[in-house]
Amino acid sequence: MTIVETDTAQSTRESELLARIPDGLFIGGRWEAGTRDPIEVQDPATGRVIKRIANATPEDGVRALDAAAAAADAWAATAPRVRAEILRRAFDLLQERRDDFALLMTLEMGKPLAEANGEVTYGGEFLRWFSEEAVRISGRFGQNPEGTGTMVVSQRPVGPCYLITPWNFPLAMATRKIAPALAAGCTVVVKPAELTPLTTLFFAQLLADAGVPDGVVNVVQTSTAREVSAPIIADPRLRKLSFTGSTPVGRSLLAQAGQNVLRTSMELGGNAPFVVFDDADLDKAVEGAMLAKFRNIGQACTAANRFIVHESVADEFARRVTEKVEALRIGRGTDDGVTIGPLIDDRAVASMSTLVEDAVSRGARVLTGGSAPEGDGYFFEPTVLVDVQPDSDILREEIFGPILAITTFSTEDEAVTAANSTEYGLVGYVFTQDLARGQRMIDRVDTGMMGLNTGLVSNAAAPFGGVKQSGLGREGGLEGIHEYLSTKYTLIPA
Ligand code: NAD
Repeated sequence: MTIVETDTAQSTRESELLARIPDGLFIGGRWEAGTRDPIEVQDPATGRVIKRIANATPEDGVRALDAAAAAADAWAATAPRVRAEILRRAFDLLQERRDDFALLMTLEMGKPLAEANGEVTYGGEFLRWFSEEAVRISGRFGQNPEGTGTMVVSQRPVGPCYLITPWNFPLAMATRKIAPALAAGCTVVVKPAELTPLTTLFFAQLLADAGVPDGVVNVVQTSTAREVSAPIIADPRLRKLSFTGSTPVGRSLLAQAGQNVLRTSMELGGNAPFVVFDDADLDKAVEGAMLAKFRNIGQACTAANRFIVHESVADEFARRVTEKVEALRIGRGTDDGVTIGPLIDDRAVASMSTLVEDAVSRGARVLTGGSAPEGDGYFFEPTVLVDVQPDSDILREEIFGPILAITTFSTEDEAVTAANSTEYGLVGYVFTQDLARGQRMIDRVDTGMMGLNTGLVSNAAAPFGGVKQSGLGREGGLEGIHEYLSTKYTLIPA
């Protein structure tokens, strides 16, 4: 594979953009300087600090909730059409500012520019979709079975929400929560990941420009997520917690949310099986594998984690996929032709090395990659492992990096057992040309989402989410807005 020699100096365009990104906390429609040591945001391709921004204290978090609570009634009473048009304006502004958002994501998160552009498209679709959904919130009514009255079922906004997002999709994870919350009539406090907070701050500015009233969206980035989150979650004014992140943190937040019986949505980790049958179109399977594995440098909850390939095609699949992997170009995401950027930090790089060492010590073979290249930044070579043994950590843990680990199977039942042998259940991928077999796999693989002969399933119009320890609730689709609505039933006697 090629390592693209990169000019690590910041370009004028990058410096100008970074200078325009707000550096405060966004509370009640005002940008506030923080009172403690700033958060230093790094470019993972160089390890250099690119911006210093305000760092919220627990008191700042509670003030953000004060603002969200104060704005809640007026926003809930705002006409759905007005809410819809504000979201639509936000969508339009995002298209105008597309290049800035894409570059900013590449700078703070590392993904190649082409992928960052893809995320602007995907993330933006939640604004458009929920602008359309805002005016379609409906209920039902009818005579009760006894004939003594009318039952009216309506939907009300849940109330102030706390939204916690991860670093891997800095824009889309924010829009996927903020857009349905606002469409439903809820106000929000957003806590972006401390590693990639700049996109959320830039987006908060965009929302204000689109006409979102003061206090409806508040942003508190912090280096002490637990300390800032705990008082917000314990506050009786908070009515909903929506979290995207790792399963261990999700478990701890669920326990905290239990104290006040908060509504929760949890988009947690994944360990996606990618099953290739002997009748699969191998070119399609390889293409799907490259997308499902290497998009976002493997740092996606939907990333294929375990390649479960029929023994009769495993060698050929591994050969073809290795050829593609060797053609990838590693480098800073801003450079032309780069297809693999850096991982998010040095811990991620160390974790890749540990997973490879463990797999190899149990009998796996490295077909390509396997180590971190010399030089600046948090890079790890895209890697293909074959003969991965069932007891290897790499099959149990969420890899969250560019390692493609192949195991084999002989019967359909074995494939199902292997696919389901995880506590996660977010997404599964199946490649077969036999439609009946595809349907059986869709029924038997225990996940919230499936891709049949494709390596990418995400869509704003589809319900995204998992079963088992991958989470609770759905984002996007017709379902997404219901996470922010509560059902109210009224009886009107005849
Ligand atoms: P993480 O759990 O470490 O952090 C996620 C967010 O939670 C960050 O904002 C972080 O600051 C915050 N956080 C961490 N500890 C906290 C605490 N004790 N209290 C309150 N907030 C806390 O996850 P990450 O490393 O940022 O993201 C990667 C994980 O996210 C992976 O497991 C991935 O699968 C998952 N993810 C899931 C989805 C999905 O839709 N299912 C989407 C993207 C990422």
